[in-house]
Amino acid sequence: MPISRREFLGFLKISCAVAAWPAPLLARGAAKYSAPLKATLKSQASAENFVNDIHSQLNRTRVAAVYTPNSVQGVRAIIHSAKTSGAPLSICGRRHSMGGQQFGTDNMLVDMTSMNRVLHFDKERGIVEVEAGIEWPALLDYLKKNQEGDGKWGIVQKQTGADRLSIGGALASNVHGRGLKFKPIIDQVEAFTLMNYDGELVNCSRQENAELFRLAIGGYGLFGIVTSVQLRLWERQKVQRIVEICNTAEIPQRFAQRIKDGYLYGDFQFATDSQRESFLGRGVFSCYRPVAPATPITENPTRFHPEDWARLTYYTHKYKKRAFDVYTKRYLATSGQIYWSDWQLSAAYVDNYHEALDRKLGAPVNATEMITEIYVPREKLVEFMEDAKRILRQQQANVIYGTVRLIEQDTESFLAWARQSWACVIFNLHVTHNAEGLERAANSFRSLIDLGLKHGGSYYLTYHRYARREQVEACYPQFKNFLQMKLQYDPQEVFQSDWYRHYKKMFAAENL
Ligand SMILES: Cc1cc2nc3c(=O)[nH]c(=O)nc-3n(C[C@H](O)[C@H](O)[C@H](O)COP(=O)(O)OP(=O)(O)OC[C@H]3O[C@@H](n4cnc5c(N)ncnc54)[C@H](O)[C@@H]3O)c2cc1C
Repeated sequence: MPISRREFLGFLKISCAVAAWPAPLLARGAAKYSAPLKATLKSQASAENFVNDIHSQLNRTRVAAVYTPNSVQGVRAIIHSAKTSGAPLSICGRRHSMGGQQFGTDNMLVDMTSMNRVLHFDKERGIVEVEAGIEWPALLDYLKKNQEGDGKWGIVQKQTGADRLSIGGALASNVHGRGLKFKPIIDQVEAFTLMNYDGELVNCSRQENAELFRLAIGGYGLFGIVTSVQLRLWERQKVQRIVEICNTAEIPQRFAQRIKDGYLYGDFQFATDSQRESFLGRGVFSCYRPVAPATPITENPTRFHPEDWARLTYYTHKYKKRAFDVYTKRYLATSGQIYWSDWQLSAAYVDNYHEALDRKLGAPVNATEMITEIYVPREKLVEFMEDAKRILRQQQANVIYGTVRLIEQDTESFLAWARQSWACVIFNLHVTHNAEGLERAANSFRSLIDLGLKHGGSYYLTYHRYARREQVEACYPQFKNFLQMKLQYDPQEVFQSDWYRHYKKMFAAENL
């Protein structure tokens, strides 16, 4: 069930009220809390203490309390309290995951977003150390303000669909962006510090506690609380965006050619109107190539404003052909523009956009979008898209947005999703929040995973947990081991989430 606006406002009120209570009242209400723990307490158990993920809003979860530590000591106090009381902890950043990875029913929730400082910037080596709750815009801003002139260092990649995501969340999902030749973000992680179930701060890198390094990156918050991250930057450069309209059938060759020609970033955003021939068969192919440093950055009159984004989102729901035409025209108009390699990674996204959209559409039942990402060998992409077209039409799935990107193989993380160099196909599906809508979405997501498997591919664990056990096992043969490793590193299961509980049950001996 989605959280209603009233409930959401109620929760906000409680959070704010608790934060604003005079100290003695707070102390009385929270008598069992130590001083450092009290300082992190944002809200306590209450019938209205529900949280939810931002995009799909399909993970409404009752939590016992919300803590927002702003120091390592605060984190330690929370862990000690969890150990003493036996109440498990879950960890969240900006709450964008959609499979319940960041919440656990009746758990204490550790919200890391107040740990958002830059701790150190090594300008020689191009390594920045940040607290794990920092979001990408704050990091980009810091790098801009703390370098001379245009600045030498920039980030390599981030997620493409939204900006306000935390670095801790990025690590825990081992995310990727739209690089043409990049591995997932583990490749840019130099080291991090993690506070384990015992309140011990552990340094993790390829040299120190290397196993924990491999487990926690892409480990969905199950091995401890990442407090800080050392991220490797690269020399930022100017890039030129080149936009074309292409058929999906040409895309594998076109990507290969762009890579050969030295392009760094790119994606293919395909048409989503299932009534038309172009459905999944045609799209906007945009790639970015390095240009001479002296090339001036384009003054951008075509910048995407929130109101443009809202209008386009409305069209994607109501007038898909118009949405594609508007988007295509807009993108083509930007072909040739020059950007900084790091700043072009930013994306427009409005939290909770569907509420206004539902009103405008007169939707009788709340709805949101939910994402899925399917991986296929690049040479299978065209066949996969043909099959997906057929199945999504049969199931009358409402595709709101979709894109194809590339990833290079990740040989480091334990629960690696990039088991080989894939083409990554993202589908953002409209989901109506009633039994029929949820069932329909689950079917579509499972069918897409089956299709990925049919073509030798896989799927991303971050977005939902509709996969059947045989699908999980086929795509993540290491999953059972992953759960065992979790118990080895967290024997008391201090860190839990509904995502974890779901898979633990799925792989429990009696269910195998
Ligand atoms: C609109 C949208 C676009 C997206 N685009 C992309 C994309 O382009 N590429 C991609 O790879 N993914 C993408 N994602 C998925 C997204 O990157 C992940 O869900 C990411 O983990 C979200 O970060 P967050 O800060 O919201 O973390 P949350 O959702 O709050 O948490 C995610 C996971 O991180 C863990 N976690 C968070 N902080 C810490 C910490 N400090 N220590 C330990 N564990 C922690 C949580 O326990 C949880 O398991 C997208 C999601 C949305 C909704």
